Amino acid sequence: MSESGGRLVGLYPGTFDPVTRGHEDLIERGLRIVDELVVGIAVDTGKESLFPIEDRVAMLREVTASEKRVRVETFSGLTVEFARSRGATVILRGLRAVSDFEYEFQMALMNKHLAEEIEILFMAPDTTYSFLSSSLVREVARLGGDVTPFVSPSVARRLAERFGGSGA
Ligand code: ADP
Repeated sequence: MSESGGRLVGLYPGTFDPVTRGHEDLIERGLRIVDELVVGIAVDTGKESLFPIEDRVAMLREVTASEKRVRVETFSGLTVEFARSRGATVILRGLRAVSDFEYEFQMALMNKHLAEEIEILFMAPDTTYSFLSSSLVREVARLGGDVTPFVSPSVARRLAERFGGSGA
C-alpha cells in the first residue's frame, strides 16, 4: 500500500456549507481507517455558498479541534491533484442514499481516470444522519426551525447570526 511517511493519509473533500453532524460522523469513521485525515474545502465548486470560505474553515476547525489527526485546509483545482500534493492515497466520500450514488459514482470514475493510484472510499453515515445535508440545514435555519440536533453549537450559533434565530 502506498503511504506517506509510513502513515496512511486520507482526503475528505467537500463544500461543508456548513459542516453538519453527518460530516462529523464521516470524519470519525474515516479516522478508524486512515492515520491522518485532510478535510479539504473546495473553493471553486461553482456553487453559491451561504458561508464564506473563512467561516467554513473556522467551523470545521472548531468541530475537529480535539482530533489531532485531522487537518482542515482549502483547495482549488482538481481534488486528485490536491490529494497528491498532500500525499493522500484515499479519498473519502459519504453515501447517504441511492440518490447520492449516481453523481458520486460518476465523479469517482472520473477521478480514477485522472489518478489511477488513488482509491475512492464510500462510507455510509450512522442512520441518524442519513437524511441530513448542508442544504437542508440551511433551509431549516432560514425558515426559523431548530437545527441544534443537526449541527455543532458553534455552527448553530453562526446560523442564528445569519438568520436571526435562537441558535444553540
Ligand atoms: P459536496 O458539495 O462535495 O457534495 P458536501 O459538503 O455537501 O460537499 O459533502 C461532502 C461529502 O460528505 C459528500 O461525499 C457527501 O455525500 C458527504 N455527506 C454530506 N452529508 C452527509 C451525511 N449526512 N452523511 C454522510 N455523508 C454526508
